[in-house]
Amino acid sequence: MSGYKDYYKLLGVSRSATEKEIKAAYRKLARQYHPDVNPNDKQAEAKFKDINEAYEVLSDPDKRAAYNRYGDQWQNYQRMREQYGENASGGFDAPFGFGNFAEFIENLLRGSGFGGGGGTPNTPPRDIEQTLNITLEEALNGTTKTLILNTEEPCSKCKGQGALTNTTTVCPDCGGTGRGRLAMINVNIACDRCEGRGTIPAPCDQCKGRGFLPKAKRITVDVPRGVAEGQRLRLVGEGTAGSNGKKGNLYLNIHIITPSIYERQGDDLYYEAEIDYLLAILGGEISVPTPTGEVKMKIPSGTQSGMLFRLAGKGLPKSGSKVGDLMVRTKITIPKKPTEAEKDLLEKIQANR
Ligand SMILES: [Zn+2]
Ligand SMILES: [Zn+2]
Repeated sequence: MSGYKDYYKLLGVSRSATEKEIKAAYRKLARQYHPDVNPNDKQAEAKFKDINEAYEVLSDPDKRAAYNRYGDQWQNYQRMREQYGENASGGFDAPFGFGNFAEFIENLLRGSGFGGGGGTPNTPPRDIEQTLNITLEEALNGTTKTLILNTEEPCSKCKGQGALTNTTTVCPDCGGTGRGRLAMINVNIACDRCEGRGTIPAPCDQCKGRGFLPKAKRITVDVPRGVAEGQRLRLVGEGTAGSNGKKGNLYLNIHIITPSIYERQGDDLYYEAEIDYLLAILGGEISVPTPTGEVKMKIPSGTQSGMLFRLAGKGLPKSGSKVGDLMVRTKITIPKKPTEAEKDLLEKIQANR
């Protein structure tokens, strides 16, 4: 937990000082700050301790090398050395899959490889995708729809960051010490969350730290004539804005609501037409409701039940400005209770066949 001590500075030597120079510097300072020479001098006592600590490290080639490489982490390095031992290739049988101890500790000290990173939250712009229900008529003729989108917009107070830059709070991860800890090897590293500062920007009170606030947005959409089922309309910039202010797009998937009298198969519609048995036998004309209004359709003499007649171009819009067909399926109806007069006539026909 002690702060970083520059042993070279303490002894007043350069980093490239020889063993001899270090020894000479130590001796001179030790004489100067020795407790016998400075009775009851707390400052001198502390200085004397530091000088001895510095000399102990810098006079030992191994410790000095470790100190040069790892600074204040050198003791942890030493501890690891003792714990895991040095292997024949000069590396360590270090845990965590690092081939080489130096690489391991360097990764550790840099805070990489442990999912660190950090940085300010940056929410990208988001697209909104939604279904737009329209009627068959609207699909065929085109329409203008007004819809309410439940979207979000970056919080005005924190500019979408979720935190306030001018107010800080104690970092909950490290309790304000700024230190993270890998308990397994007792190495002190900077706290991931606050990057060693001990404080983090306070969460924004307006958006409760989310960075975004819900917003209902009214938009008007021009639906072109002939839109097909499942077609996607893109409205550039009508999506949710990201924290950088850039806006996503709105995608509307067209769903054409088909009246229940029709059954749809792809772009074609199927309609069941009930045809009186006499009309089916003798032939004639019926009226068929199409998406664009009633049309007359010829029924040839001898029409059977379940026959299909095609009304071309009366179905659903297809992509590429084409339109599907309306298929009319016949269902011949027979009176459940024929009148006496009807029966008489039919019996005459029967007798003459
Ligand atoms: Zn922290
Ligand atoms: Zn906010």
